[in-house]
Amino acid sequence: MWRCVARGLRLPSSSSSTKILSNDSFRFHSTRFFSADSTGGRSSYTVVDHTYDAVVVGAGGAGLRAAIGLSEHGFNTACITKLFPTRSHTVAAQGGINAALGNMTEDDWRWHMYDTVKGSDWLGDQDAIQYMCREAPKAVIELENYGLPFSRTEDGKIYQRAFGGQSLDFGKGGQAYRCACAADRTGHALLHTLYGQAMRHNTQFFVEYFALDLLMNNDGSCQGVIALNMEDGTLHRFRAASTILATGGYGRAYFSATSAHTCTGDGNAMVARAGVPLEDLEFVQFHPTGIYGAGCLITEGSRGEGGILRNSEGERFMERYAPTAKDLASRDVVSRSMTMEIREGRGVGPLKDHIYLHLNHLPPDVLKERLPGISETAAIFAGVDVTKEPIPVLPTVHYNMGGIPTNYHGEVVTLKGDDPDAVVPGLMAAGEAACASVHGANRLGANSLLDIVVFGRACEKQKPLEKDAGERTIAWLDKLRNSNGSLSTSQIRLNMQRTMQNNAAVFRTQETLEEGCHLIDKAWESFHDVKVKDRSLIWNSDLIETVELENLLINACVTMHSAEARKESRGAHAREDFTKRDDENWMKHTLGYWENEKVRLDYRPVHMNTLDDEIEPFPPKARVY
Ligand SMILES: Cc1cc2nc3c(=O)[nH]c(=O)nc-3n(C[C@H](O)[C@H](O)[C@H](O)COP(=O)(O)OP(=O)(O)OC[C@H]3O[C@@H](n4cnc5c(N)ncnc54)[C@H](O)[C@@H]3O)c2cc1C
Repeated sequence: MWRCVARGLRLPSSSSSTKILSNDSFRFHSTRFFSADSTGGRSSYTVVDHTYDAVVVGAGGAGLRAAIGLSEHGFNTACITKLFPTRSHTVAAQGGINAALGNMTEDDWRWHMYDTVKGSDWLGDQDAIQYMCREAPKAVIELENYGLPFSRTEDGKIYQRAFGGQSLDFGKGGQAYRCACAADRTGHALLHTLYGQAMRHNTQFFVEYFALDLLMNNDGSCQGVIALNMEDGTLHRFRAASTILATGGYGRAYFSATSAHTCTGDGNAMVARAGVPLEDLEFVQFHPTGIYGAGCLITEGSRGEGGILRNSEGERFMERYAPTAKDLASRDVVSRSMTMEIREGRGVGPLKDHIYLHLNHLPPDVLKERLPGISETAAIFAGVDVTKEPIPVLPTVHYNMGGIPTNYHGEVVTLKGDDPDAVVPGLMAAGEAACASVHGANRLGANSLLDIVVFGRACEKQKPLEKDAGERTIAWLDKLRNSNGSLSTSQIRLNMQRTMQNNAAVFRTQETLEEGCHLIDKAWESFHDVKVKDRSLIWNSDLIETVELENLLINACVTMHSAEARKESRGAHAREDFTKRDDENWMKHTLGYWENEKVRLDYRPVHMNTLDDEIEPFPPKARVY
């Protein structure tokens, strides 16, 4: 009997024999693993092996950009993705991408770098920030050459809008116009452009393959990943000299988030399970303008085009909190100011629990040309005509500054003895999953699309896989598939999301965080009592959501414990009991390890050095907008 496996090729399904087949681009063979099931019987799993120079997990902006670079340079590259590439969350990015192109005013990448270091509240690594800002103009021009349809100025240059936290002349020259965009659908344009390029360079796509775990060698190096083909239930071991994780953020650990339901931090959890720490997870960005109730994003570009926040008294309150930058202060500052207004009784609506964003004073043709997408979003999700009425908004979880620690080459790093920057051989990370750290304690708007296209890299020689590689993962999957507890995945997930929303919010205290640690640890424990109803392996969304929930829980536990430990306020981590930034004790990156189902914390220093003498490091100072 013949059984259909990867890419439409046919393999015999005999249980013990190992057939080796090859085609031009890759070799694979199929074996079968057995795992005892709950009834004492044995489930069997077909495992298909592949060998590539590089395997990229994720086909958002970061994954596609990495895959294109690798394929272009002649590396045989696989890109594994749980979603069809153009459904990745990057598609939802509205506002744009920062680069000192100087199309609207004079500009300089050093000014962009200064803004980013300041935005990061001096937790960003300055070498990585220099690299990103210096590369930015090249990266954006490259996107244009790839065919990205940027909005234009009258004389045909790439149009650039104002965005939060961006200034000229090291903060002394007023607002910068640095954010290149394709109206308010920049991510959509970017993702489709990159997907086209990846096809052109013959990247091999494995679509709707769910990566489960890294394949780690006993010496601590990474040799690839093991993934589940969701369509037919086969398992696939991808061996590669370089594995690049570009799996995006984990916004869905929270109840209300602008991110897609698929943003479940799978790559982060895979790394944590492999014994590598996660960096700075306590820094979770709340975007000031999620639609009240629905959580959908209204881009910062709407304030960049002149939108204004007002409280119940009609006051433009940002003038009080950030006299210079006003509504375009950085996101952490605006979100905190809105929360303060609501707490002090000046929120709008019957419950006085949100704020109004006014665009109705802007010329209708600006709304039509520059913000068509959000006009539509506001109509559908808030029932508002933006030309006439304000949009009800509330700070909403939006972005994870923390993630898999990397250097500015994208190589994953960990603590090893005295070395805080020891490279994990064979493993790289890029995009929102990674922490380079270019965003430090707070990301500036339009710096993430930049981050995802700037970071991507190359590979070396490979050893054979260890024979039992992936066996533990298969046993784990099998256990989850047969789990027969009393709690549904959705019950545990809701409990986790509520805990994160209540206890690791815009403002935090020792009390809320301690309680949060207790509650999130309990949520983790309750996961042992999960029930998966569907036992099949074909399109088993119950099983996939349960794996995603485990991944989210790991991210949530590390986030809460990291936040509880950090006794200062910095960027997005605002503590009411420690209101000041404490550079003496806390100018360091948190490293959260997941060991024996518990969080262990350690720290590594912030890189205060730059790459060369093109720019001196910016010493820490108070952050005022
Ligand atoms: C609504 C919204 C608007 C935004 N607007 C902007 C903006 O204007 N400017 C800006 O700079 N930033 C913006 N951001 C942030 C930015 O868009 C994201 O940080 C960025 O797009 C993330 O890209 P990524 O490639 O890292 O991940 P994603 O685009 O999230 O892609 C993740 C990929 O990983 C794959 N994947 C995940 N887990 C697995 C698994 N287990 N197995 C296989 N594949 C897996 C998915 O299939 C997907 O292809 C916005 C974010 C949101 C949510």
